[in-house]
Amino acid sequence: MGGMKAPEDLLRKIRQGNRFLLTSHVNPDGDAIGSELGLARLLRRLGKGAVVWNRDATPTLYRPLPGSDRIHVGEEPPAGFPDVFDATIVLECPSPDRTGIEKYLPERPVINIDHHLGNQCYGAVNWVDSAAPAVGEMVYRLAQGLKVALEPEVASCLYLTLVTDTGGFRFSNATPAAFEAAASLVRDGAHPEQVSQWLYESQPLAVVRLLGEMLQTLQLHEGGRVATGRLTREMFARVGASPGDSEGLIDHLRSIAGVDAVALIREREDGSHKISLRSRGEVDVEKIARHHGGGGHRNAAGFTLEGDGEEIRAQVAAALGAALG
Ligand code: 5GP
Ligand code: MN
Repeated sequence: MGGMKAPEDLLRKIRQGNRFLLTSHVNPDGDAIGSELGLARLLRRLGKGAVVWNRDATPTLYRPLPGSDRIHVGEEPPAGFPDVFDATIVLECPSPDRTGIEKYLPERPVINIDHHLGNQCYGAVNWVDSAAPAVGEMVYRLAQGLKVALEPEVASCLYLTLVTDTGGFRFSNATPAAFEAAASLVRDGAHPEQVSQWLYESQPLAVVRLLGEMLQTLQLHEGGRVATGRLTREMFARVGASPGDSEGLIDHLRSIAGVDAVALIREREDGSHKISLRSRGEVDVEKIARHHGGGGHRNAAGFTLEGDGEEIRAQVAAALGAALG
């Protein structure tokens, strides 16, 4: 069975509004971009205006999604903000500060739609369902509540959120609801073959070269149960890659036999380090991320650290080792 229906107060707020601003978290992932683009198009279908604004650029991987070229990117609000918008819909974002545009949020009522466990319910309306496999699946339920037919483009965007958040229907959140939503979305015109092509067969050469760079740094720890990799600014420069190009590379670390937890330590342009964590089964990486001021889910989480990359690697490897149990 699917999850609960979209709540009435949410449906009312959306029916009442004419123009919406949509946003999500910094470093947007597939669930963020797919949910935003799917919902924006769905709102336009209802005769409403919708503008997507993200602080950070769309990762290369998600550029082929229909409408991605219309996303407003950067620190400055889109034209007409705040006057022309009735509300801001924040998707897949557990707390206001994770949007990167938090100083603008108080200017309009916030509608918060998310599936993170630790969501702070910071909206005027909050719909948080931690059992949802992806926020895109919640947007699909929202469409049902609004009784709006899905266009194939919307269905493909929402289907993509399921593919990326469940790791291609491989993670523990590949629930019956995930498969049921996927089946419905395909019935509504989602194109799994095309989505797979976008995700797995549209890589710029620089991304594949960046993977090569990362694999050179691969290390195993804890008798092979923990794997770590690094990406430095130098590597990005050497292969001509941009910051958004590393999305998904961490999955190669988790593909190694016997590995239960992995970390990718990526040096940002400002010299700080973004740590991405992934794990299998009961190994809880969210706790480690939260301890360092970050967050995420049990099997996928992240945080930021300042310092030397190799020292951070050793520290993170030890934390993962301790989490193995
Ligand atoms: P990724 O490693 O792909 O950037 O993120 C994996 C998961 O952890 C996502 O659910 C993402 O939202 C979350 N995450 C990553 N970095 C942070 C962070 O700095 N703070 C919080 N709260 N969550 C994060
Ligand atoms: Mn998600």
